[in-house]
Amino acid sequence: MDVHYLSKINFRRWVERLSQEAPLYHPKEINGNLVYQKFISEEEIILGEVRTIGPLKVYFFSLNQRVATYPSPSRIKKGEGLRIFLGVKACDLQSLEILDKVFIEGEYKEPFYLKERKNTILISSDCTKPKDACFCNLVDLEPYPRKGFDLNLSPLKESFLVEVGSEKGEELISRFKDFFNRPSGEQIEEQKENRKKTLNLLKATNTSFKTKKSYQKIVKKNYDSPLWEEEAGDCVECGLCTNICPTCHCYLLYDEKEKRAFNRMRMWDSCQYIGFAQVAGGANPRARLAERLRHRYLHKLDYFKDDFGLYMCTGCGRCVEGCLGKIDMREVLKKLEESK
Ligand code: SF4
Ligand code: SF4
Repeated sequence: MDVHYLSKINFRRWVERLSQEAPLYHPKEINGNLVYQKFISEEEIILGEVRTIGPLKVYFFSLNQRVATYPSPSRIKKGEGLRIFLGVKACDLQSLEILDKVFIEGEYKEPFYLKERKNTILISSDCTKPKDACFCNLVDLEPYPRKGFDLNLSPLKESFLVEVGSEKGEELISRFKDFFNRPSGEQIEEQKENRKKTLNLLKATNTSFKTKKSYQKIVKKNYDSPLWEEEAGDCVECGLCTNICPTCHCYLLYDEKEKRAFNRMRMWDSCQYIGFAQVAGGANPRARLAERLRHRYLHKLDYFKDDFGLYMCTGCGRCVEGCLGKIDMREVLKKLEESK
């Protein structure tokens, strides 16, 4: 993997130039949280730190999407063309790898998602301040990207180390090659040290949650545990955990009248809602809240792992941070392991 050095001054010039070529989105702090915003000024860019409060999926799989119009078909707008995301974190890159498996790696390619994926340049960055809710290290990830990016930026003192992850990334370097230099051994060492420090911080936060068995074994073994019922007692069925999750991708279709035509709309759904699995005639295989809670864990940590070889959880901790019932996935899994 090619590695380059980028000074802070050249970073400023480079992002200015990139923003003139395509809409550039980056994390910006608003009321103490990081959110993606369109580029206005380099001063607003927050690289490092941690993932944004909301999931990256909204830019690839929108909350509400018109997928067809009938009886007179019209052109459906699919996205805005090339765009650049700067400061994407390892957990959110992993979420795209997961969504790729669902939407574009099977026989049927979901055209809206595919178009957004093709039109996006991903410039990721290392985490430097994981939150207490973060647990990527417990689901086989690290707080810095290893793959899935076009370029990755590791913050150093007043500069960045830039790793190239794809041809698109290589192209972004070669077009602006005056901005980039060869890194020194010291700078590479600094990156390693920073990464080690962040990983150690994350490990320290999660020491008490670490389980002996894999998450997949734990949920498989505890299918009939009374703990599901106990945990569901705190759930208020708000659906936040699935909506804010960067990997949840269930949706429903409905029709909407517009003048002389109908639009077929696609909207996110949540397996935590009582009507999610209900079928015509009223039968509901997951009528109880505990069954729905358990299903979420099984889908993420067992079925998906069996089907695709990876967890459908990136440890981003958004569900932990946002759950109205204060249900912490790490705690539930630890309790399940210790319950037998
Ligand atoms: S289940 Fe929770 S921690 Fe895992 S990816 Fe979804 S929001 Fe993040
Ligand atoms: S966020 Fe918490 S309270 Fe809301 S549905 Fe999910 S588990 Fe239940």
